[in-house]
Amino acid sequence: MPIRYLLFDLDDTLYQRSAGVMAQIGRQIRHYIVETLGLAMDEADTLARRYHHDYGTSLQGLLANHQIDADKYLAFVHNFSLDMLAPNPALDDLLASLPVEKVIFTNADRAHAERVLQRLGIRRHFSQIIDVVAVDYVSKPNLPAYTGCLRLLNASADECVMIEDSGRNLQPAAALGMVTVLVDGAPDDRADYHIDTILELGPVIDAICADGACG
Ligand SMILES: [Mg+2]
Repeated sequence: MPIRYLLFDLDDTLYQRSAGVMAQIGRQIRHYIVETLGLAMDEADTLARRYHHDYGTSLQGLLANHQIDADKYLAFVHNFSLDMLAPNPALDDLLASLPVEKVIFTNADRAHAERVLQRLGIRRHFSQIIDVVAVDYVSKPNLPAYTGCLRLLNASADECVMIEDSGRNLQPAAALGMVTVLVDGAPDDRADYHIDTILELGPVIDAICADGACG
């Protein structure tokens, strides 16, 4: 099947990990657990790590084991300044050059995705934002997140390229039949393509789209 969609992860994929956004989200998650479950900070840290390991994200573990309001959680953990992100004209040019429809597929919520894309100056390139709410609060790397995303796009997996900084999040995508591109990931993580920054994506998409493979 021809490639119809480029599915972009958001955080640590469209900007450098060193910006520290995910680190700030991690701190907010721990504060949320302290405030909501009444734990000490070190206990909250242990719980967040365990849930991330066992369930894919802290949100998924919290939903499975506690009565929490997922929308309030998402608003809380993303409630901080994004001053560390700046417009990226090179990325803007790169995205404009890619001849395939672009979609955000993120474990965050839409409000955070909109803010990040506005800060980077690249909002205009994405036809859709598929957030964790849109896939019934199931986080990557849990399979129903991916099948839910495909259902919303009315697409099959082999029509999609997934671009992600998490090797763990690419495994279900690969198993379903998506082409996978790992950005700034661990060297031993499996993916069809490895790049160091999102700005290296152009030649990868050229290779994938060679011989008319992109619809
Ligand atoms: Mg990410």
